[in-house]
Amino acid sequence: MGWLAGLWDYKVRVRRRLEGLLGDAAGRAAGDHHARRPPRPCGITIHTGTGCSMGCVYCYVPDMGFPMRPRPYPLSPLEMAYALAVNPYVLPRATLAAYGSVTEPFQPETRDRAVAYIREVYRWLGLPSQVSTKALLDKQLARELLGAEPRLSVLVSVSSLGEWARRLEPGAPPAEERILAAGEAARMGLRVALFLRPIIPGVTDRQFEAIVRLAGEAGLRYIVPGMLRVTPGILSRLRAAGVPLGAIEARLPRRPRGPRDQVPLRGGDLKARLRRIAGEYGLEVLPAACSHNVIAHGEYCRACRLGPCGDPGAARPVEPGDVQELLDAAGVRARVLRVGGEGIVVRARGGDARRARILLEAAARLPVRIAG
Ligand code: SF4
Repeated sequence: MGWLAGLWDYKVRVRRRLEGLLGDAAGRAAGDHHARRPPRPCGITIHTGTGCSMGCVYCYVPDMGFPMRPRPYPLSPLEMAYALAVNPYVLPRATLAAYGSVTEPFQPETRDRAVAYIREVYRWLGLPSQVSTKALLDKQLARELLGAEPRLSVLVSVSSLGEWARRLEPGAPPAEERILAAGEAARMGLRVALFLRPIIPGVTDRQFEAIVRLAGEAGLRYIVPGMLRVTPGILSRLRAAGVPLGAIEARLPRRPRGPRDQVPLRGGDLKARLRRIAGEYGLEVLPAACSHNVIAHGEYCRACRLGPCGDPGAARPVEPGDVQELLDAAGVRARVLRVGGEGIVVRARGGDARRARILLEAAARLPVRIAG
């Protein structure tokens, strides 16, 4: 059996072992959305809680209907590992995992659950994991995270400094302290990057140099930037916080079509400027969050046009027969046509095409082309 098919075989064995440990609770976990949701480009997003009390003005979570009062996610850590083992899109040791996309994971109410999820998901499935946070990475938390997943990728979010940060992120610790604590955690061995997100035109870009300088002085080496996305609610909350909307509206490709419609702003020029400033201070700007996850885990990926990312020496040879074996074992109706410099070419249709793409991009970290 090749290494790709071997990963699927390992997943089946993990699922059976967890079924034995969980008994009746396995059924509940298998009904959870983590057991069926496909990964996003940054990986399979794992919810550590519902609700968030940080009250960031640019947050889209209130527009998605999530409550603002934090509660731990209802699955136990073992149930979460099982739900992911059931998920047909998830491959152990391959699919990237992302914690913290819909809530702050390290709020007091959810902190222990978040650390336990990271630990158990890594123990059972070995998913290369990433967490994004606005919390202070104090020594205790850094130690716990290193114990839970030694190569964990940690993105510390900042979108402005000083008075702007206080206004825009009223429930979060001061941005300067977040960066300094991130630097301390990096010195303890945690793989930490600055998540410069959201870039709010007219606010964040005016502070690029101060933010980059502080991150460099703290000892951080990487920056992952992300542009603001707006809904009608976010625009009105930003206006109420005193943000001039002119620079934002000038970058809107279109107006949001409804209360939940998130529209990302154009910002290629801002990212180019950030890259130039970062270079002057010896920091590297990465193309996406997953890029830092891949680097943190010493891996290599050229699955999308933003890459390649990571260490080319870590690329693993991919054999067409092994790819076919993986697809067959996973029950995906697809035929491998070839594997080469262009990536993996398979013939598949509909849902099978989608599953083939997601599984193979995660496993082989190569581009996948579907031939009709
Ligand atoms: S090539 Fe880089 S940006 Fe693209 S999926 Fe891979 S890690 Fe992410």
